[in-house]
Parts: sequence; structure tokens; C-alpha cells
Amino acid sequence: MDDIQPELVPLISEEEIRSAVCRLAREIGQDYHDKDPLLIGILKGSFIFLADIIRNLEIPLEVEFIRLSSYGHGTQSSGKVSLVHDIPISIENRHVLVVEDIVDTGLTISYLMDYLRGKSPASLRLCALIDKPSRRQVPVEIDYLGFSIPDRFIVGYGIDWREHYRNLPDIRYVKER
Ligand code: 5GP
Repeated sequence: MDDIQPELVPLISEEEIRSAVCRLAREIGQDYHDKDPLLIGILKGSFIFLADIIRNLEIPLEVEFIRLSSYGHGTQSSGKVSLVHDIPISIENRHVLVVEDIVDTGLTISYLMDYLRGKSPASLRLCALIDKPSRRQVPVEIDYLGFSIPDRFIVGYGIDWREHYRNLPDIRYVKER
């Protein structure tokens, strides 16, 4: 790890995350109780969020993961996205709920939603932990949202800074020096 560590400032507490996860799971549980949904987590950032969501759901469901790579510079997304790991099963006629960590410009998730829509699911919705609406470049409909935040670079709760800090239990932002 680099010698120079970023200064991190608390933004969303463990308690706030817990209550948002409960609220989202309640909504998802009501909407999908008879649908045997397929939840697709986007690696790596959503792995803790997805794990917490499903542990609050008592309905039948399946889980798969997709890994994308985005060719950007630093903290900026370029919109050029490719699939590094696809799901190994058909989603035709399945009720699919995509679980993402952050919707920023929207370029990554809109690429993925278009890709999945092309595979004829019965329904396709999006659950996102964090929305940064001020940075949006393409419209994105978020069906289940945890938090809307200003334009800050965040880490923790599965979300990284140079592959580190995913293990923080809360969400913090990197203070500009
Ligand atoms: P978008 O294509 O919407 O601009 O970018 C979404 C992706 O960029 C997220 O899934 C995440 O991987 C990354 N990203 C956007 N904002 C942040 C942030 O504040 N912190 C971290 N670690 N990644 C971010």
C-alpha cells in the first residue's frame, strides 16, 4: 500500500447503513415475495451490501455476480465498459434485480442494464446503495436506493480506494488535500 494515506471523513454510519438495508430489504421482500428473483451483484463494490440485503430477505431467491471493468482514469469513468465475468445461467423470463454500489455518471450501470435487457428477463430492476445525482451523464432509474450523496469519493462497506478500505464497516469520503 502507498505511503501516502488519504484522510478519511465519516459520511454514513454503520447504524444508518443498517437501517437503509432493512428498509430496502422490506421493499424488495414485498415486491418479489412470489417471484423467486435472481439478484445480480456487481463485483467487487457491492459484495457486502448484497450480503446484507439477502440476509434480511426471507423470500426464495438466487444470487449471481457479474464483474465489469471500466476503462477510466483515476476516479473518472470513461463509459467504456467490458464484462470480465458474466453470469453462467440464462436470465430469460427471470425477475432480475441488479445490486450496485454506486451510480455516478450512470455510464457503467446503463451499459449493464442494456446488456441484461437484451437477454429477455421477465423484469429488470436496479438497487443501488449510493447515488451521486450531480455527476449523472445518462439517465438511470434506480428502483431501490440507499443514499443520495454530493460529489464525494467514498470508501468503506465494500467500496475501495486503490483496492483498500473495503473492510471499513461504515462509509467515509476522501478529504481533498
Ligand atoms: P459510473 O459509470 O456511474 O460513473 O461509475 C460507477 C462506478 O464507478 C461504481 O460502480 C464504482 O465502481 C465507481 N465509483 C464511482 N464513484 C465512486 C466513489 O466515490 N468511490 C469508489 N471507490 N468508486 C466509485
